[in-house]
This record gives sequence, structure tokens and C-alpha cells, in this order.
Amino acid sequence: MSEYYLFHDSSKCIGCLSCEVHCKENKRLPVGPRLCRVMTVGPKMVGGLPKVDFIFMPCFHCERPWCVAACPTGAMQKRAEDGIVFVNEELCVGCKACMRACPWGVPQWNPETGKAVKCDYCKDRVDKGLEPACVAKCVTKCLHFGRPEQMVDSRRERHAKAMAAVGWEVTLRQPTAPASKPRKPPVRKQAE
Ligand code: SF4
Ligand code: SF4
Repeated sequence: MSEYYLFHDSSKCIGCLSCEVHCKENKRLPVGPRLCRVMTVGPKMVGGLPKVDFIFMPCFHCERPWCVAACPTGAMQKRAEDGIVFVNEELCVGCKACMRACPWGVPQWNPETGKAVKCDYCKDRVDKGLEPACVAKCVTKCLHFGRPEQMVDSRRERHAKAMAAVGWEVTLRQPTAPASKPRKPPVRKQAE
């Protein structure tokens, strides 16, 4: 996998497609190709009310990318320094082998250039220390991009804040009780 991690907090996503729009704008793409997709799942009934989920689908920047293996010209490449998978447009002959090979339908067809195009984590932006366009313009800040070690800390912090907000006692200290002892349930704060 790449050295980066793109996390989507689906609980905050409102399905506005701002990420998709800014991705296309950043890559100057015509009608058709959508490099990241927000998939709508549902509706399903939850507590008597209809609910839909929005799931963000970018490229996974696979460890052994099917698209790279299938490309006959070497246009589809994986960056040695950070594992980002990208298309070198100059080498692409538009054979669509990468589109057939990717199990998740990530590589797209650009009808204007007659070549494949795909999510490359906006490597031009990343190289300048910026976030991918989809992350930078997410309306509800539900997209997060960084190194895996940064992401786990931010997820823990978010979880701790959410627990604190509903009145649970939160501690980030290591438990001191022996593992065999039954664990006490979390204690609710008294209402003031
Ligand atoms: S395009 Fe598909 S196969 Fe290639 S790296 Fe992305 S998810 Fe993996
Ligand atoms: S990383 Fe960049 S190119 Fe990929 S989906 Fe997000 S905005 Fe688009």
C-alpha cells in the first residue's frame, strides 16, 4: 500500500459530492470520469426512519496493483518513494487494460484525451505539502489524509471527544487492573 492513508468518517458525510466536484476541477476532467466516488447505500429503515449511508471510494493504491501489472506500456506506475499509483499520460495508449484489471473499477476513461485517468492522491499537491483536493474541500471535514501513524492518533482523539460529549468518563491511561479481573462498566457523569 502507499505510505498514506485516506480516512472517510461516514458518520459525518452528507453526500454533497463536493469531494467529487473538486477532484474533477483539480484534474480538469470533462463529463464522464469520476476519480473518487461517493456511493449511496440504502435507504434502509433505522428506528422507523429511512437512512442512507454514503461511502467514499478512492483508489486503494494497492501493494501489488492489478492495474500496473496489466498495463502493457508501463504507463501505470507505482511511485517508489511513497507507493502512490498513477498514470503517466505520455505512455498511455488507451488500451483500457487497467480498467479491466482493477477489481474496484478505479481507473477511468477520459474521452477528451483517449487515455486512462485515475486517482493519484493529487500527488502534485501532496509533493507541495498540500492535501488531496477532495480532502481539502470536504464540506463537513469527514475526509482525512496523512500517514497511518497520524491517522490512528486523530481517530482516537475524535473517539475520545465523542465519548466525552455524551457524558462518559474517558481516560487514555493504560488500565492498571489485571486482565483477568472483570472490567467495570464506564461511569456516567452526574447531571448538574
Ligand atoms: S486502480 Fe485498482 S488495482 Fe490499481 S492500485 Fe487502484 S485499486 Fe489497486
Ligand atoms: S485523491 Fe485527488 S485525484 Fe484522487 S479522488 Fe481525491 S481528489 Fe481526486
